[in-house]
Amino acid sequence: MRIAEKVARYEDARKVIAAGIYPYFRPIESDQDTVVQMNGKDVLMLGSNNYLGLTNHPKVKEAAVEALMRYGSGCAGSRFLNGTLRIHIECEERLAEYMQKESVLLFSTGMQANLGAISALVARNGFVITDALDHASIIDGARLSFGKMAKFRHNDAADLERVLKSLDHHKSKLVITEGVFSMEGDIVKLPDIVDVCQRYDTDLMLDDAHGIGVLGPEGRGTAAHFSLTDKVDLVVGTFSKSLASIGGFVASSERVIHYLKHHSRSLIFSASPPPASVAAVIAALKIILAEPERRELLWRNANYLRTGLHSIGLDTGASETPIIPVLVGEQDTAFLLTAAMQEEGIFINPVVPPAVQPGGSLIRFSVMSTHSLEQLDFALDKVAKLARHYHLDSGVTHRTASLSDKELKGSEAVSALPVEGSVHRSRMGSSSSD
Ligand code: PMP
Repeated sequence: MRIAEKVARYEDARKVIAAGIYPYFRPIESDQDTVVQMNGKDVLMLGSNNYLGLTNHPKVKEAAVEALMRYGSGCAGSRFLNGTLRIHIECEERLAEYMQKESVLLFSTGMQANLGAISALVARNGFVITDALDHASIIDGARLSFGKMAKFRHNDAADLERVLKSLDHHKSKLVITEGVFSMEGDIVKLPDIVDVCQRYDTDLMLDDAHGIGVLGPEGRGTAAHFSLTDKVDLVVGTFSKSLASIGGFVASSERVIHYLKHHSRSLIFSASPPPASVAAVIAALKIILAEPERRELLWRNANYLRTGLHSIGLDTGASETPIIPVLVGEQDTAFLLTAAMQEEGIFINPVVPPAVQPGGSLIRFSVMSTHSLEQLDFALDKVAKLARHYHLDSGVTHRTASLSDKELKGSEAVSALPVEGSVHRSRMGSSSSD
């Protein structure tokens, strides 16, 4: 089939746009804080990963401007060649200290960190074993490697053991889990996973995109939260959440980082992160260390919103972090609610298949430390109204199969769309983008 024909056949997203409930690519016209401007109107932002509210912090912005003026707008080359600036090395050293690992390597995004690290480290004919809910960038990294892939049930160490037992024990194995799961908002049962990995002599990698800045002493992340930093071989992080910028990193031993520097294709064959972005990370890191109250407020807000949603009668599943999904069942409902919330002046995100199983669609709230309780009350008020309207508060929706081993997150971008009230299988870009 020619490209022209393939793309012409794809009509699903257009139907959702025509129905007026298309929830993607919504333009924001302002800086990004708890209130943003959309279509000239104020909208309460409850769908951003800017957990600590640092993207708009004056010191972060000043640091970025200063680096822009000093180093220019871009590096015009990869870290490997002309794209390493002093500021990259400073950022790596600060992050290594923060993550309590020997060494850190910066990448231009978190996605590239996962692609580059996993594909370089997994041995030919080795195994990559992922949690069923792992992020698309982990799955794609595994696909790029020359290893074989296996999955274990979400956050289930016993199932991980079952999988490890079934694999050839002469072959090398890398287990990869997230620290805080980006859709469900639950925390990995790291002590159990570590225990299994140790018993099966397996390497362990933790993608802590949503845990860094949020969990653990000084926000050092999920491994630090469980005092298991030295039992995790590699930690991947991103700058696009608490660190208020763009970029990613791998933290590990000096030897692993040295190897990655010379084998990681997404590092070697791609330009390095721009100086302004790196300076923003350094500034954000200093603020995280100096202002622990930001983390306290984040948790206060997360618990407040979650409790409020429960008191409306909503099911937030396994959430225990600032990522708070609400189970709404059908994806029609998720899209309609997202549009209705926006009408009410609130930005949230829908999560639909393949990020979850059909019938397990969510709307997802992400809380920031800079939200006020008044803002959260405003949101709860609107949610309560819509929940009544859509009968979500009466136990109609169930947490269907979102934790089963048939989860497809990160796999084919298949999505059932709400078109004229009928649900059918169709394709629209992956809804699990973050
Ligand atoms: N890992 C996880 C768990 C993520 O949620 C994300 C992005 N949301 C990434 C990796 C990729 O990070 P980045 O946005 O920096 O590419």
